[in-house]
Amino acid sequence: MLRRYRSGRAFSERAVPTIVFHCSDATDVSEAAQWMCLICGWIYDEALGDPEHGVAPGTRWEDVPMNWTCPECGARKESFEKIQFD
Ligand SMILES: [Zn+2]
Repeated sequence: MLRRYRSGRAFSERAVPTIVFHCSDATDVSEAAQWMCLICGWIYDEALGDPEHGVAPGTRWEDVPMNWTCPECGARKESFEKIQFD
């Protein structure tokens, strides 16, 4: 007779890990990426931003305005490549 209650329990009891994109004020250096200008080698550090040009420290690359250009040589964002650390 218990079979009648076979409903709605398809969900796993396991806690599904939630991907937390935590935007804390403190810059997590371990998550800050660096992007290098392929034209001149200038490095954009997400932890440092580019305050002189209106990009606050801690600004992620994808949040850097499209019209931002390399302060050194004027290259556009697409001329930058992420620096990978292995
Ligand atoms: Zn440059």
